[in-house]
Amino acid sequence: MFRTHDCGELRIENNGQMVTLSGWVAKRRDFGALSFIDLRDRYGITQLSFNEEYNKELLDEARKMGREFVLQVQGKVTERSNKNPKLATGDVEVVVESMRILNPSLTPPFTIEDDTDGGDELRMQYRYLDLRRDVVRQNLILRHQVAKQVRQYLDNKLFIEVETPVLIKSTPEGARDFVVPSRMNPGQFYALPQSPQTFKQLLMVSGFDRYYQIVKCFRDEDLRADRQPEFTQIDCEMSFVEQEDILNLFEGMVQHLFKEVKGFDIGTLPRMTYAEAMRRYGNDKPDIRFGMEFNEIKSLTEGKGFPVFDAAESVLAISASGCSNYTRKQLDELTEWVKRPQIGAKGLVYVFCNADGTFKSSVDKFYSQEDLAAWAKACSANAGDLLLLLCGTINGVRKQMSELRLEMGQRLGLRDRNVFKALWVIDFPLLEHDEESGRWHAMHHPFTSPKPEDITLLETDPGAVRANAYDMVINGVEVGGGSIRIHDKSLQALMFKHLGFTEDEARYQFGFLMNAFEYGAPPHGGIALGFDRLCSLFGGVDSIRDFIAFPKNNQGRDLMIDAPSTIDQKQLDELSIALKG
Ligand code: ASP
Repeated sequence: MFRTHDCGELRIENNGQMVTLSGWVAKRRDFGALSFIDLRDRYGITQLSFNEEYNKELLDEARKMGREFVLQVQGKVTERSNKNPKLATGDVEVVVESMRILNPSLTPPFTIEDDTDGGDELRMQYRYLDLRRDVVRQNLILRHQVAKQVRQYLDNKLFIEVETPVLIKSTPEGARDFVVPSRMNPGQFYALPQSPQTFKQLLMVSGFDRYYQIVKCFRDEDLRADRQPEFTQIDCEMSFVEQEDILNLFEGMVQHLFKEVKGFDIGTLPRMTYAEAMRRYGNDKPDIRFGMEFNEIKSLTEGKGFPVFDAAESVLAISASGCSNYTRKQLDELTEWVKRPQIGAKGLVYVFCNADGTFKSSVDKFYSQEDLAAWAKACSANAGDLLLLLCGTINGVRKQMSELRLEMGQRLGLRDRNVFKALWVIDFPLLEHDEESGRWHAMHHPFTSPKPEDITLLETDPGAVRANAYDMVINGVEVGGGSIRIHDKSLQALMFKHLGFTEDEARYQFGFLMNAFEYGAPPHGGIALGFDRLCSLFGGVDSIRDFIAFPKNNQGRDLMIDAPSTIDQKQLDELSIALKG
């Protein structure tokens, strides 16, 4: 038997017992006639002690054990004179009577501790060692718990988990596909699913009624920070439902998850239309942990001789609470910040709301105390606050101000990781205009149903058509999104037409789905939640990478197995692939 107990198990109650433990050498400490080894496994750490008086040979042996050696020891559980309250097993140690090396180890390239000396790259290269660290392992345990609770909740609601294929044809999520060449069909390729979207809709046609899957999805996007080319979704679809049914059911799911995983009541989710979110926060995934909402004050700034504001389509102001003590230097720095190309503002106008009720602004030349007071009033600002103003086109300034608001929220400590605020954003536009191609694209995907009352606008004002589409947003992060689907063939054909698909193109890409819809497709809709993202939120960490056992880096590389990599000529030949150049 390799062990009678694990390394996290022994307590004072075990005092006097003979036990066998197996694990890794986390640390060794040598003192004159004594040595200690911290033996680690998944469950915890137990201190082993070696004593010259008791067994000199064994002490000498112990002093040869390097970090990460795999050991099996037998010994007696003994109360420690020097207890360690930080360790669950800290009341006892095992006085070793015999020891066996199960496997030696090279010295690891970084220390396997919560506070490691290993840089990102190195840790990714040796991810299997990184995963020995408690903090990293805890993340994966959390992930397991979230998955378990998701399954439990959905199972209770009669959902059935169905696996869908990975080698498929292009899916409609709008990113680039990863493709896999088919050896048996030269010149032909599978695509990896960007989501199981079409399959889950087919399952509704099949009468499954409620489907879910915790599933890998693949999108070949330029990797922005914290994107993974393969990621996991909680993918769901339901029949005979309206938007309201889906919102309620999945609101219930996040409530359940927060309760079970975090012991926290997230409450009911407020709902905000897309238009409102854009107006108040300039963002379709607003972080509502804090206020600092937008105020459109264009009309209050007009006609006072300040050409920049006069020429602008929109003048937005936010009020940063308690910031009227900002120094010149801080404001200069903030101005530089908004002028960075990533933000792209031309400049920043500010107004101090002084404690004595007066105002001081960077545009005092043009605006009177009364003008500035009116702005402050419009922003519900108080004495001691600082108004920050940006101007430009409606969409441009919203984007910039949204960045500035988030930055100020960050600086003022208003984006607390231990606070969770969730909401639904609903009534998304159906279409979005792509400046480059001059075409309209489905904002969600082409199977999303327009709001019936807006269908007539498709011809006249496509941008104004709203969809039965919704996103779930937590702490400014889009954790999920979905829609009610089109189940009517003629409406789907109309949509394809407006999206610029010819009939042939639509049939080539999605013919199988359109055919299926000829055989009694029920009204249906669904949602997909980003599983990695949800886990990282629960874990209070920004990066989803920390919650994926074997993640890729920002270049989409797996540094450990060194993928992607070249393949040999023979394999290329078999696949009928000729490389350029
Ligand atoms: N397939 C969609 C996505 O991956 C989600 C959905 O509409 O259910 O974003």
